[in-house]
Amino acid sequence: MEDCIFCKIINGDIPSSKVYEDEQVLAFLDITQTTPGHTLLVPKKHVRNVLEMDQETASLTFARLPKIARALKKATKAPAMNIINNNEDLAGQTVFHAHIHLLPRYDKNDGISIQYTTHEPDFEQLAQLASSIQKEIME
Ligand code: 5GP
Ligand code: ZN
Repeated sequence: MEDCIFCKIINGDIPSSKVYEDEQVLAFLDITQTTPGHTLLVPKKHVRNVLEMDQETASLTFARLPKIARALKKATKAPAMNIINNNEDLAGQTVFHAHIHLLPRYDKNDGISIQYTTHEPDFEQLAQLASSIQKEIME
């Protein structure tokens, strides 16, 4: 797609530090290196994000993840890793070509902090919500 920075990287119009490539996907180092080894895995087919991804593109993209993650962990000697995917502006997506972040973790002060607010469970509400999601999946 024209004007897509990741399509340009895939096509070789913009240089990148590649870590894995096959016919379907490309993995390369993120330019910001949030932690050393910060890698992005992208499908070669231009798709906006996971919310717009077809099952086939998802299968072939996510299938590569464990192998690349293990290699990255070994190469960086990081003891842990966050694997993150942002969908749409509000969720922090800035490049609108689907990608998965692999972030090697070194210690609690390595610059990444992921925190979730916790709520007291309302099991009635949870059942209703689960049911409405199930309905949408069946559509
Ligand atoms: P997002 O915020 O959309 O989840 O992540 C986009 C990522 O793409 C950011 O972490 C950003 O550093 C990275 N990025 C943006 N432009 C380039 C580029 O030209 N080359 C590389 N290697 N990474 C880029
Ligand atoms: Zn693209």
